[in-house]
This record gives sequence, C-alpha cells and structure tokens, in this order.
Amino acid sequence: MFKFLRDKLKDAVNLFKESAEEPEEVAEATNPPAKSFQKFKKEESKKTFIQIVKEKVATRKIDEEKFSELFWDIELALLENNVAVEVIEKIKADLKETIVDKPIQKTEYSGVVTSALKTSIKKLLSTESFDLIKKIAEHDKPYVIIFVGVNGVGKTTTIAKVANYLQKNNLKIILAAGDTWRAGSVEQLDEWAKKLKLPIVKGQYGADPASIAYDAISVAKSKKYDVVMIDTAGRQHKNINLMREMSKIIKVSKPNLKILVSESIVGNDAVEQATSFDMAIDIDGSILTKADVDERGGAILSIAYVTKKPILFLGTGQEIDNLEKFDPEKVIERLGL
Ligand code: GDP
Repeated sequence: MFKFLRDKLKDAVNLFKESAEEPEEVAEATNPPAKSFQKFKKEESKKTFIQIVKEKVATRKIDEEKFSELFWDIELALLENNVAVEVIEKIKADLKETIVDKPIQKTEYSGVVTSALKTSIKKLLSTESFDLIKKIAEHDKPYVIIFVGVNGVGKTTTIAKVANYLQKNNLKIILAAGDTWRAGSVEQLDEWAKKLKLPIVKGQYGADPASIAYDAISVAKSKKYDVVMIDTAGRQHKNINLMREMSKIIKVSKPNLKILVSESIVGNDAVEQATSFDMAIDIDGSILTKADVDERGGAILSIAYVTKKPILFLGTGQEIDNLEKFDPEKVIERLGL
C-alpha cells in the first residue's frame, strides 16, 4: 500500500526545503583576500558561525507562483497514484493556506510542508469515525446490513470477513444469499456459512432477492439474531435495470447500513463506482478490498472525501482474518508522513 506514493511524496516535499535554502540573491564570486593563511582561516570560521546563526533565524516566504511550481511534483505524485483530481485540489488549497506568503523558518520548511500534508490528508479521511460494533449495540435487533458492489470485487469474501469479525464480538449473525444471479454465488456464501457455522437463508437462482432478504429478517426476528447480512448480485453501476432491482431489495429490507464493497486497486474507477452507487441508494460507507495488492492507494485517499461517507474496513488479503478496521492514522504512517 502506497509503495510508490510514499517515496515520491518525500522527494516532492524536499523540493520545498531545497527552494527555501536557495540564496535569495546570488552573491558575486570573490577571490579570497590576500591575507596570511591564519588570519584568513580565522575570519572564515567567524563568518561561517555568523552565517549559521543567521540561517537558523532566517525566514523565507513563498509566493503563490512559486508555491504552484513547487506543488507540481506533489500533484504529479498524487495523480500518478490514482488520487482523484478534486482530492488533489483540496490538498493543494490546504497547503496553500498554510504556506503561501507565510514567513517560515528556512530550516523548518520540510517539517511545515509535511505537517500540512498530514493534516490535510487526515481531514480527507475523517468524514465520521465509524464503529460498527457500537452502532449495532445502540440499535434495535436485528441490525440489517446490505452489501452492494460490482462483480468480482470481493464482496462475498468481505461478507464472510465482516461476519467473522462480528461473531468474534459475540454477535449472532444470519446470512441472506441475495445474489441469485451469478452461478455459484449461493454455494460460495454457503461454504463460508459452513466454515463459520452461521445460518443462511437461500433461494433458487433467479428467485427474487428481495424476498430472500425479507425471509432472513423474519427468521432473525423470531430467533433473536443480532445482525442480518444480505449479499446482493454484483452489478455494473452503469446497468440501470440491476441498479433498479437493488433499490427494490432496499425498499423491502430497509437496511440500517448500506455498504459498498469496492476494489482499492482500480483507483479512480472505485471512486466513480462509489459516486454512482451513492447516487442510486445513498450508501452509508465503503469497504475497500485488495488493499494488500494495491501499490498506489489513490482510492483509499479519495473515496471518503468524494462520497463524504466513511471507509469502514480495508480488505488486506484472501484469508478470513484479513480485514483491517480503517484508521486514518495508519494511512498517514504508511505514507511516511
Ligand atoms: P465477489 O464476486 O465480489 O463476491 O468476489 P469474491 O468474494 O468471490 O472475491 C473475488 C476474488 O478476490 C477471490 O479470489 C477472493 O479471494 C479475492 N479477494 C477478496 N478480498 C480480497 C482482499 O482483500 N485481498 C486480496 N488479495 N484478494 C481478495
């Protein structure tokens, strides 16, 4: 995660530092004065000492034009790593506010830029801190969660991971195999249910997913389950009919939480998916899978800001425990900021 971005950001921040260290006026080259060697050396060391002190207190301001020039490398690093354009604009505006025309000690330039970058990225990621266990605890039972997303992003695996996480927190779960579209999907979820020893409500392929969701909720009510987790068919966000079908499942099941599962590795496409799903069903948050194989990380930095909805978890591998609660501090750490 952030393998490329980490080094590129470091180099880009250093440019600010180097620029602050540039002499304001280029001094004319002078020959050493014709003095005795001892005297010359003494004067040189005295001069150097004064220069050092001067440098320590000297400040430098960067004007808007210079800032834009220096920010270009940060901008490029972010673009190359799939960060959405509007997110880059936001980071630029934040940095500009902290840096442009502000007297900053020359020696502190990289610290100031790094810290401004850190603050800006943290703000982008912290839409709302989301504690799923707390949310469920505060709510009447059963708490209904629906998972939506494009095909193949890792939705079924993610449902199993989240179910495992909730189970470990002493919650009673029931699954609803609402993907009656893709061949093998019911069996796939059923397999996870067996591994995790979870009850599951299934239907025939082609059956109405809304009625499966409804049945699962009825069972949960009568048997006092804490959480119903509904799988849905993977759908392209551009497929209007499937998007409509999803709205019907939502109307019937009235979920407390609508989670979009997206792949972190597809970068800007994940952000585009999130925008479309959010427009169609007003998602409550997202889970980004395959973060373990995502070397860029642009979607992780962009999706929360663009949708204004939190990232709940990152999928970090194919195993059941490879689910990481999303933490902006960890992102900052991984970015080396
Ligand atoms: P679905 O079609 O969206 O339900 O996707 P699946 O759950 O069937 O997952 C598709 C593939 O992605 C499978 O091979 C999963 O093992 C894999 N996968 C899911 N989540 C992750 C993850 O976080 N990291 C990695 N590396 N692979 C994942």
